[in-house]
Amino acid sequence: MQGLMQDWPLTVDKILNHAQAWHGDREVVSRSVEGPIVRTTYAQIHERAKRVSNVLIGLGMQPGDRVATLAWNTGRHIEAWYGIMGIGAVCHTLNPRLFAEQLVYIINHAEDKVILTDLTFLPILAGIRDQIPGVKHIIVLSDEANLGDQLPGALAYETLIAEASSDAKWGGFDENTAAGLCYTSGTTGNPKGVLYSHRSNFIHTLVTMGSDVLGIKATDTVLPVVPMFHANAWGLAFSAPAVGAKLVMPGQKLDGASVHELLESEGVTFSAAVPTVWQMLLQHLRASKGKLTTLKRVVIGGSAVPESIVRGFRDEFGVDVTHAWGMTETSPLGTQATPNAAIEQMDPEAQLQFKLKQGRPPLGIQLKLVDDEDKDLPHDGHTFGRLKVSGPFVVGQYFKAEGGKILDDEGYFDTGDVATLDEHGFMQITDRAKDVIKSGGEWISSIEIENLAAGHPKAELAAVIGVAHPKWDERPLLLVKLKAGEAAAKEEFLQFLDGKIAKWWMPDDVAFVDDIPLGATGKIDKKLIRDRMKDYVLPTAAAGGSAALAMSPEPKIYAPEPAPAPVAHHDHDDDGAWLHWTPGPDQTLDRTRAEPAEGEAPADAVRPFRRS
Ligand code: ADP
Repeated sequence: MQGLMQDWPLTVDKILNHAQAWHGDREVVSRSVEGPIVRTTYAQIHERAKRVSNVLIGLGMQPGDRVATLAWNTGRHIEAWYGIMGIGAVCHTLNPRLFAEQLVYIINHAEDKVILTDLTFLPILAGIRDQIPGVKHIIVLSDEANLGDQLPGALAYETLIAEASSDAKWGGFDENTAAGLCYTSGTTGNPKGVLYSHRSNFIHTLVTMGSDVLGIKATDTVLPVVPMFHANAWGLAFSAPAVGAKLVMPGQKLDGASVHELLESEGVTFSAAVPTVWQMLLQHLRASKGKLTTLKRVVIGGSAVPESIVRGFRDEFGVDVTHAWGMTETSPLGTQATPNAAIEQMDPEAQLQFKLKQGRPPLGIQLKLVDDEDKDLPHDGHTFGRLKVSGPFVVGQYFKAEGGKILDDEGYFDTGDVATLDEHGFMQITDRAKDVIKSGGEWISSIEIENLAAGHPKAELAAVIGVAHPKWDERPLLLVKLKAGEAAAKEEFLQFLDGKIAKWWMPDDVAFVDDIPLGATGKIDKKLIRDRMKDYVLPTAAAGGSAALAMSPEPKIYAPEPAPAPVAHHDHDDDGAWLHWTPGPDQTLDRTRAEPAEGEAPADAVRPFRRS
């Protein structure tokens, strides 16, 4: 028997219709690419978005056609989104930080027909124009006067929409119609397209509006620093109009001073960005003795939040941090570290340990933790395994079925993340599967070490990679970019880590570098670092150990059963028994590990492996 409620397709045009009808005079403030602050409202954005729809129809766009944006977070970008999606075309957000050849690949793979671009990116498009023949029109999000002559034939957005009618029909199609397309950054292989539907975006919006998730309200002023081209600005371009929050769009200026200026001048209460942005803001605030008079909460995700950021916001500025995890493939919000009832009862320091985890899934996200044979692993807070996810806003297959079948038999998607789940349902990423350091058959979390090292007062940024080692397969190398004007000795960093991580996790060397490269979404680019360091030899590797190469055990990564009590074995045991050992940096066996305090995740999980 079917229910008898109304058939009301969940299409995203309804979100802006709602904002226009019920929050029409709520402001959308943008730092324009041209420079000045531009103030509009949801009613104006709605009206102009309808004009965008008519411009696109006039250019021959049909439902299902891909229309790309190459743009910063501004009111115009929002108009473009809703104008494209409202008529059933697909809004393809291009990430301008990608290399030109990746952009060419993505634009051609998506078969984009129109690109709406900011002035900033005209040189990029001019450089690749002859390699993207399928693109029929380029619309520049500016006035005619700013067009210049870099891209012959480019059209001026303001001229087009001034001439277009604001009467356009939106929606009226199936809620499973494609709405948006976003490519993953392709650290392995070609970038792959995630094709969101209206329904998946609508449900993601409803879920993220929950007070335990983003929890934004009509009374909030929201500044999405996270770009709309990076996993949909974590849904804020949908959820802010959905609740009627004032929206502040930062344009291209994401440095500490510019973000601070907007936070204060617009009375921002809620913001969201990757850790590197907040690192820059905190540094700016400390240097300029700045204050945050209205900001209450920031959501931080995209990579793990270092403890120093959470403490800095909390203790120096009275701002609450919510750590969140997600990926392009999950629309993107997958978990958030908001407390449950039991955690809320804990003292602030114990709570902090949960804030640093990536958090728990909201309704709509199912998580599981499995080993290499796809067997479920315990949720004990220290056994780590592959994180899999399913739900109505999780990818089912990539655009054009790139990569083939990507779901397991139960319909779960393998995130490529390695994680633990604890008894409160809090997930903690220990690494990307490809970045984890495999030392003597055991796994070392590169993220955990680099987050701790980044908390050193002299460090601006820290990165940890695994470097080949003749005896242990890989050992950790810590790279540190010092703050301007600082000098440090390697020992200072090793001493700083001492006692915070198991001794066998201790980096074999510390390298001070001028630059820690960030990838297209602001995350540390480990692939490039590994490439740069490919000729580097660890001092411990140069010192010998080659005789042990043949002894290197076949890694057995996961520990389905609880770790047995530490028993001394040496690495020549060859009886096939479960071995339990921890290689120290000096290649001796070292069993020292700090016991976790109550409520705290163990810094390391010593796991057994079976030597094959
Ligand atoms: P890109 O690599 O293009 O940035 P995504 O934004 O989809 O692609 O990246 C998703 C990945 O980012 C996740 O699978 C995870 O590895 C990492 N990630 C996201 N949020 C966090 C977080 N809070 N802590 C640690 N890693 C995170």
